[in-house]
Amino acid sequence: MEQNKSMAAEKFEFKAEMKQLLQLIIHSLYTNPEIFLRELVSNSSDALNKVRFLKLTNPNINDSDAELSIKINVNSETQEFSIEDTGIGMAKEDLTGKLGTIASSGTMEFIRQMKENQQTLDANMIGQFGVGFYSLFMVTDEVTVETKYAEKDAQAYRWISSGQDTFSIEEIDKETRGTKISFKLKEEYKDLASDYRIKDILQKYSNFVDFPLYVGEEKVNKVTALWHKRKDDIQEEELTDFYKFISNDYQEPLGHLHLNIEGNINFKALLFVPKVAPPDVFKASQDKSLQLYSSKVFIQDDAKNLLPDYLKFLKGVVDTEDLPLNVSREVTQNSPVMAKIKNILTGKILGLLEDWADKDKEKYETFYNNFGSLFKTGVNADFTNKDRIVELLRFESTKTEVGELTSFNSYVARMTEANDNKVYYISGNTRESVEANPNLEYFKKNKIEVILLTDPADIFTIPYINEYDGKQIVSIDKADIKKEEGNSDKLDETKSNSIIDYFKEVLGEEVEDVVESQRLVDSAVTLIVGKAGMDAHMEKMMQMLDKQFKGSKRILEINTSHKLIKNLSALLEENKESDVLKESVEQLYQGALLIEGYIQKPTDFVKRMTEFMEKATSK
Ligand code: ADP
Repeated sequence: MEQNKSMAAEKFEFKAEMKQLLQLIIHSLYTNPEIFLRELVSNSSDALNKVRFLKLTNPNINDSDAELSIKINVNSETQEFSIEDTGIGMAKEDLTGKLGTIASSGTMEFIRQMKENQQTLDANMIGQFGVGFYSLFMVTDEVTVETKYAEKDAQAYRWISSGQDTFSIEEIDKETRGTKISFKLKEEYKDLASDYRIKDILQKYSNFVDFPLYVGEEKVNKVTALWHKRKDDIQEEELTDFYKFISNDYQEPLGHLHLNIEGNINFKALLFVPKVAPPDVFKASQDKSLQLYSSKVFIQDDAKNLLPDYLKFLKGVVDTEDLPLNVSREVTQNSPVMAKIKNILTGKILGLLEDWADKDKEKYETFYNNFGSLFKTGVNADFTNKDRIVELLRFESTKTEVGELTSFNSYVARMTEANDNKVYYISGNTRESVEANPNLEYFKKNKIEVILLTDPADIFTIPYINEYDGKQIVSIDKADIKKEEGNSDKLDETKSNSIIDYFKEVLGEEVEDVVESQRLVDSAVTLIVGKAGMDAHMEKMMQMLDKQFKGSKRILEINTSHKLIKNLSALLEENKESDVLKESVEQLYQGALLIEGYIQKPTDFVKRMTEFMEKATSK
């Protein structure tokens, strides 16, 4: 019967990217071969959590009395290894869909990073990318997975693959629920084939598995709910180990928060702030964040509504007695208990960050540099805590060194008369590019501090704050600049008016207006936005998001004390029809667009430039 079935084994091909991934794993992760064990145990533990949860709501479960456990057997003579769990098991679709394809969206990113820094990539990172199972192929040439889904009458299957191009699946008879994975360790890893080595590795990685873990007959882990211990009884090292275990991170956390809340609502929580952000912090925030337990029983590992989005970089557990044990996901989603816990957690986390900002600047800045982009979106999302979040915002300014951060609070403390009671900012792609913006000249000359916003997320937050401590927050592109009295360097009013009129004539519909500039010092012209418009950089960001988005017209400011403008004014008086005059106006306007990154016809710009140079150099 068995044989008949194995003859009917179906063959499947791995997807192309899967092959790449397998190759990379086998060749790059050889320095930490024991990682495979952590990954397998963690998969078994997930599967056990899932079945424990299913049991609460579904009476139709195979072997519903079977002990929830993980059993590892290793034979030092034959180098055979197996790990068996009584977890949820896999249906055929899981075997083709989950073991046969790349499970997580982060995987391609993982491949890319592996390719880029093959030398430095840490093998421990593998678990973060949802490719853990495949780490097996570091230590073996062929894997057999036998599995039976937990629901009564499920068919059992055997999945076999050598991790090359294909895998096969066949139906088998398997009595028990769950999954057994077996393989023979490669010759070069035969040292792993001993109970002693395996126990040693498990000590390091899997002490917090919430189910009994056996090596041979011996139970090797202590099942503890760390968050139920008293704060004083927990060692720093236990916390770090626990964090690594739940987060799949290989580094220590930046900090943690241990809560024991009693009263109206009762819960315990152990929360961690990671030290380093994952490659895409916005996407990662949609993944697993907090695990929810109800009286020590695991309920779900992606309790989405326990934290607001902008704090979803945290990892940890929340355990409450106030939810019924057989609570379903739908219930947790709308439960007032969850909403209350979320409020308390949010407040406590902000408190922790405030504490760092206050007492440990370096730690706070590490946090901010990693998670600031996500965190600051809280300004728009969390009305209740908006003021606290605003207080925690950081940025560079014209008064900080590169990389040094400041806050609104410190900015305001440094404000002078010249600020006119306003907080100024400019936004752009990099500090270098914003510092070169001619619109800054007036502020530099008058020693007015300007906040430099270079994080794309700033665009969607800072303008919505509007004011801080009663001071308006304004873009320098839109700021009103007071007219300097008695500047004898400028063209007189008649000349100034005629050159401005001439600019208007040449540029016509291209600009909203042409005006005499009060803000320019060294540059001849600049573009600004009208009161109603967005500043230039923000507009560009909007256009990236929405191709239909139409920017507003710009106002061209001209610096009537600039030598070039004076020359043009003289030319105008001499000969209004001069080609050089007209071309110069065009060139100045296109140059201003170029600085904003908006130039439409770079070829015309360069052509005109060449002609000018030709004229200037011909004898
Ligand atoms: P991840 O665990 O991060 O999703 P893996 O490559 O380790 O990525 O595993 C892929 C998938 O295979 C898992 O998500 C799970 O659905 C399934 N799987 C792996 N091991 C087991 C197991 N022991 N029991 C049940 N399902 C499993």
